[in-house]
Amino acid sequence: MKSVTVNASTPYEVVIGSGVSAKIGEYMQELGRSGKVMIVSDTNVAPLYAEGVADQLVYHGYEPTIFTFDAGEESKNLSTYGDILALLAEEGFTRTDTVLALGGGVVGDMAGFAAATYMRGVAFINMPTSLLAAIDSSVGGKTAVDLPQGKNLVGAFYQPRLVLFDTDFIKTLPYDEIRNGLGEGVKYAVLEGGEIFDILSSGLTSDNLEDFIALSVDAKRRIVEEDEWEKGKRKLLNLGHTVAHAVETLTEYVVPHGVAVAYGVRVMSRLAHDRGELSDEDYYKIEELLLENDLGLELNPVEELIPYFSADKKKAGRTLTLVTIAGIGDCRLTEIDIEDVARYFEGN
Ligand code: ADP
Ligand code: ZN
Repeated sequence: MKSVTVNASTPYEVVIGSGVSAKIGEYMQELGRSGKVMIVSDTNVAPLYAEGVADQLVYHGYEPTIFTFDAGEESKNLSTYGDILALLAEEGFTRTDTVLALGGGVVGDMAGFAAATYMRGVAFINMPTSLLAAIDSSVGGKTAVDLPQGKNLVGAFYQPRLVLFDTDFIKTLPYDEIRNGLGEGVKYAVLEGGEIFDILSSGLTSDNLEDFIALSVDAKRRIVEEDEWEKGKRKLLNLGHTVAHAVETLTEYVVPHGVAVAYGVRVMSRLAHDRGELSDEDYYKIEELLLENDLGLELNPVEELIPYFSADKKKAGRTLTLVTIAGIGDCRLTEIDIEDVARYFEGN
């Protein structure tokens, strides 16, 4: 078992390990919680794990209610959000009660946003069950719902009181979802280098999973603690994401997020290498890392993607902030005038 303390505006623990979900009741008691718990989950995860979590809560004197919605990003909308709020109100939840997310990133976003807004905020506990959610959305306090006009357009920064990741839950995660998580993992490997890079280079296994997640969570923790409100350094976490978002837009989200991020890292690595900013050694190490993780993909060529790079429209002169790779473990924020983006991506 491993634990990382995130010193956000409200500090909380991220606990990672085999079987930790069975301790949910004890952890809630340590936090001084009592009363009702709304377990928010989806139709894939709830049948596997919701009863087990609910039983633990009952055993420790809590009153759980399970809310399940259809798995998938399509459910991340105002209608599902409204359903969660309605059930909280119908069940008489008050500000001393708790919302618990049990699922991937979609569940975490929905439950987190409901917790942030119901009665102006009730305690939120996150139990991520996917690799992507464990390493990414479980730290940082971003919660959101999609609008028909675009993804994540409504949301709040809201910190959980606790994050519990049971590594046993990964056993039921489909291969495509593992790969999706690894794609986002490649981002941490290149941002941080060191052990995270080594683990992914040799391949994720049940033996190194706990370490890998703890290291990724800790990497994100360090960056988020310095910049909780995403004013500067936190933008490093966007490595690969300018390209990824363009791929997602262009393919109408057929390419999953993590896979698109891995391609984004690949494009940025190639670009840096072409521009003479990244050594041969590091460039080939990144290529090998991608191949090892079944992420050595060729998606849309850069020329096609450039029109979909969203610029920072608030800034005079319209610049695009790119996360560029100077080396493994050495990424930087580079501002480029929107006029120069095409030329920059040609490598000169
Ligand atoms: P994310 O990839 O951001 O976590 P989702 O919340 O949509 O996005 O999760 C991806 C998919 O994996 C969903 O279909 C979800 O139901 C499923 N899933 C998540 N965790 C598990 C798990 N431990 N076992 C089986 N399926 C899971
Ligand atoms: Zn991402």
